[in-house]
Amino acid sequence: MTYLLNSPDDFADEAVRGLVACHSDLLAEVPGGVARSTQTPQGQPALVIGGGSGHYPAFAGWVGPGMGHGAPCGNIFSSPSASEVYSVVRNAENGGGVILGFGNYAGDVLHFGLAAEKLRHEGIDVRIVTVSDDIASNGPDNHRDRRGVAGDLPVFKIAGAAIEAGADLDEAERVAWKANDATRSFGLAFDGCTLPGAGEPLFHIEDGQMGVGLGIHGEPGVRDTPIGSATEIADLLLDELLSEEPARGEHGYDGRVAVILNGLGTVKYEELFVVYGRIAERLKDKGLTAVRPEVGEFVTSLDMAGLSLTLVFLDAELEKLWLAPVETPAFRRGAMPAADRAPRTSIWDAAEAEIPEASEESRARAQNIVAVLETWQKVCAENEAELGRLDAVAGDGDHGQGMAFGSRGAAQAARTAAEQGAGARTTLLLAGQAWADSAGGTSGALWGAALTSAGGVFSDTGDVSDQDIVDAVSAGIDAVIRLGGAEPGDKTMVDAAAPFRDALAEAIDKEAGSAITTAAGVAREAADKTADIPARLGRARVLGEKSVGTPDPGALSFSMLMAALGEHLTR
Ligand code: ADP
Ligand code: MG
Repeated sequence: MTYLLNSPDDFADEAVRGLVACHSDLLAEVPGGVARSTQTPQGQPALVIGGGSGHYPAFAGWVGPGMGHGAPCGNIFSSPSASEVYSVVRNAENGGGVILGFGNYAGDVLHFGLAAEKLRHEGIDVRIVTVSDDIASNGPDNHRDRRGVAGDLPVFKIAGAAIEAGADLDEAERVAWKANDATRSFGLAFDGCTLPGAGEPLFHIEDGQMGVGLGIHGEPGVRDTPIGSATEIADLLLDELLSEEPARGEHGYDGRVAVILNGLGTVKYEELFVVYGRIAERLKDKGLTAVRPEVGEFVTSLDMAGLSLTLVFLDAELEKLWLAPVETPAFRRGAMPAADRAPRTSIWDAAEAEIPEASEESRARAQNIVAVLETWQKVCAENEAELGRLDAVAGDGDHGQGMAFGSRGAAQAARTAAEQGAGARTTLLLAGQAWADSAGGTSGALWGAALTSAGGVFSDTGDVSDQDIVDAVSAGIDAVIRLGGAEPGDKTMVDAAAPFRDALAEAIDKEAGSAITTAAGVAREAADKTADIPARLGRARVLGEKSVGTPDPGALSFSMLMAALGEHLTR
């Protein structure tokens, strides 16, 4: 567990601040994360890498010459928001376009994707590279659909080296994908990790057992087996990976591999070296050459007791880039050629949003919106632990935190907007953006988009009718379906939201409050019923079968908030 903290909510931000204070020669704090503290050559592509916090040195620890240009930093285990990604890119990009590199998780794909859309509109060339090295999460024929774990290190190291060597954006993107396609990881854990401030780990593994094929966000392993000796564990990890070794003598691969033995949080370096000794022996027996192996902590999972092994099947190009010099806070190699490193001269920051003029009626409605969001904030806070517990069964345990952070951020933004005289539309638009910014994660992006779409139905000048409220709620649900792409039966929020929308349409002649209350009852029943089905989308998909017997946390939280909305409107 985390012993040293001030407040759980500020933990991730305060850690970044301390990291920058310690490495100010390399890092600067920028809105949304970190960027290099020095200027980069005009026209050089930028590599912006990121994900949730809790994985140090991934990702902020890898920003510097030869590797990343910037890293948006999300909350613990949850993706940075689209505006955090956008802001870091604005601080890192210098006319050469940008590669957004991140592990293949639904929340990251959504937020980085939204940021990419906005940047492209502004004329910046954006490429997306999703790291997908975890062989436990999907089959070899679907390598690019796997989730990303410690493979982040070699993929970003190799892409960063290509850029440092003068690659343009096309070339850097090609090399990054090539590195990803050559990288395989497999991990196991002896016990789960605990979110800062939480009383209990996200999952437990029975004494004497280990979880095989775990994720790096506290997702439990795909199966449990008895703990083996260090030798047995080394053999297990290596054999799994070597089952995907490409043919030697083809495509420039001839048995040369980059090897990364990664501690996930509480496994000692000595223990890792005991395991590595055996791995080195086995590699030799198999006629493989370990090229500049790395043993240590690279992609961690808070205090998870576990380790993972990564192999990169190298050709001459990848090997050269893997060996190239790099200088970042947490990953250094060789000596970077002496270069002019002028300090950065400016930091980009989003301009304050302008508040359009609003009518008195619309401003009064904005106050109602503030009151609803404050009620939601209360409901989310009360259910935070329970929603987290449900998400930990097959997901990563952060749904309670995401909803609590999101609703609090939205309520705060709405209050500020309303105080400045905003109407209903602007208040809800700003609340939606704040929800996504504060929560991160898949559900954060979806709730943010829902609020923003709902706000689009209102106006800042007219009044809001009951029909407008119903239309706004429906528009919000449509946005979730459009953006998330889930269908009923995938075990997501949509399983509650779709029947809710149908029930709402049927209850149309009632007042908004009672119509929504009726529909919320339908949503609750549907949410409870999701316990019967396996998850097929999002983080939980890898462990879909484990989720049977537990309702989908996002479906449940949706029904809770709709019930609270109905009750509020009826009052
Ligand atoms: P993350 O999965 O990024 O950790 P959260 O834990 O906050 O995000 O939210 C998980 C919830 O998000 C799930 O329980 C599910 O209801 C919802 N969800 C996941 N993917 C989708 C999707 N594609 N469409 C709609 N809802 C989704
Ligand atoms: Mg989650």
